[in-house]
Amino acid sequence: MGKVYLIGAGPGAADLITVRGAELLKRAGIVFYDALVQPDMLALAPQARQVAVGKRCSRISTDQRFINRNLVEAAAKYDIVVRLKGGDPMLFGRAQEEIESLEAAGVACEVVPGVTSALAASAELGVSLTGRGVSRSVVFATPRVGEGEDVSDWAPAVARADTAVLYMAVGQAAEIAGVLQAQGMPIATPVVLVENASLPHSRHIGTTLQGLKNGAAQGLAGPALLLFGEVFRKRAHTLIGHDILIDAKPLLAVPR
Ligand code: SAH
Repeated sequence: MGKVYLIGAGPGAADLITVRGAELLKRAGIVFYDALVQPDMLALAPQARQVAVGKRCSRISTDQRFINRNLVEAAAKYDIVVRLKGGDPMLFGRAQEEIESLEAAGVACEVVPGVTSALAASAELGVSLTGRGVSRSVVFATPRVGEGEDVSDWAPAVARADTAVLYMAVGQAAEIAGVLQAQGMPIATPVVLVENASLPHSRHIGTTLQGLKNGAAQGLAGPALLLFGEVFRKRAHTLIGHDILIDAKPLLAVPR
């Protein structure tokens, strides 16, 4: 019986995987990879069978139970099975289902962490999510509710956090802004949108909660994050004028 490694691929750039992850890729017999994994990272495993299991690539969702079963079956054939997931596997990556299914089948499993996209965005913006004296709390959240899951109350935690990062949220950004405003988040709260963090074609948009409500996230097609909080005030301000800005007057009116 082989072992399954759930490896974080990082945010996209091929050199942002950990050394441990890269070493395992070199030795893998088979790699099951997500849609967000970039092709140049797969070049680290030329010897391995490479299997795409993601929505964006195949345009059809690969059923989670199918992935779970595949991992168990692969462990019977290969010594090193790699499940390569974007960012960190343990954040919004459905790692738990895979770990539990492997445990239930008696297959050894190990998780190798990765750089989550929120931290890549922070690095690229040059803005600390915990800016001293401004932010003592960071919330990673998603409004996305998976099939068969209960609706979670994500909004109050996001509205109360000093800094918040929303994953899988750009598609409904305007609606989300309304929900956060209803939760008491000030309309002038600085907001930054980061698309394709760590990749050469990454894009940053600076706006406010008001701007988000008015459609600042429209036109983003790649994977993107919504980042909220006072720590972004200066950066949102400098981005304004460089990129799309839709009604961020409240931000301009309240300089720090
Ligand atoms: N486990 C991943 C998140 C998977 S959920 C991680 O730790 O980053 C997928 C969401 O992650 C996307 O909808 C997007 O919000 C975010 N994301 C992933 N890669 C990204 C990137 N390079 N730039 C911006 N957002 C990204």
